[in-house]
Amino acid sequence: MLNGKCAIVTGSTSGIGLGIASALAAEGCDIVLNGFGDLAAIEHQRAGLAERHGVRVAYVAADMAKPAEIRALVAAAAERFGGVDILVNNAGIQHVARIVDFPEERWDSVIAINLSAAFHTAKAALPLMIARKWGRIINIASAHGLVASGEKAAYVSAKHGLVGLTKVTAIETANQGITCNAICPGWVLTALVEQQIEARAQALGIPVGQARDDLVREKQPMLDYTTPEKIGALAVFLCGDAASTITGAALSIDGGWVAQ
Ligand code: NAD
Repeated sequence: MLNGKCAIVTGSTSGIGLGIASALAAEGCDIVLNGFGDLAAIEHQRAGLAERHGVRVAYVAADMAKPAEIRALVAAAAERFGGVDILVNNAGIQHVARIVDFPEERWDSVIAINLSAAFHTAKAALPLMIARKWGRIINIASAHGLVASGEKAAYVSAKHGLVGLTKVTAIETANQGITCNAICPGWVLTALVEQQIEARAQALGIPVGQARDDLVREKQPMLDYTTPEKIGALAVFLCGDAASTITGAALSIDGGWVAQ
């Protein structure tokens, strides 16, 4: 379905980003992987994706906190694959602390990676999409883009901002064959969440399994974690023809979290 298209997925060396990159590759899309990690493991992932799906896969190690590296990432994708058709802004970090204890440099990093990076990638990629009269931008926000929790000031602010940026992008590109939407997941069991589960288990002196169950129960009526594969399938849907008039939307995939 996406043969001949090229997708950049930021933060795709693990978790949700890797799930989305795999789902797009399975549809025939060439992929630019990005993110941190062990270089040998990343090369293994890159080569595996290319071989399994018969697509071209490149890896660009740009730091999403650095605008110049972001511009270089988009330029590298365009040079390697002749354009950028799909942009998935997924890279994200978390820091959990009350505002009075929140380190200023962590605030700056969370805003830079979770929000400003999506502005810089879009600014660089949109001219390429406009030239081809086709494009899909998918911003991975969160239930925390729609509602708040304590101790997540920077994350909640960045994700609410990302939902706003999604709407502006949708309005500005509405008649150019381009859509921009946000996906708002609830709990997804990835490295980012495993860290929070371990911290919770340690703080409360409870087993990790119990902390995992308690975390999801606290926020979601449905007691299942979403998987990266399900988010990948939603991203594929948003790239298809059936979704060509869905734009500016914040799509929840959250076990009922924000329905409450
Ligand atoms: P993860 O920690 O498994 O993956 C994060 C990815 O981002 C990794 O590839 C990491 O290398 C990359 N990354 C981090 N900092 C980067 C930087 N400066 N430059 C480039 N890459 C960087 O996390 P995840 O759970 O898969 O989260 C992915 C996205 O989904 C995030 O934006 C997160 O906020 C969002 N999200 C996650 C959940 C969840 O429950 N896991 C829920 C809602 C939203």
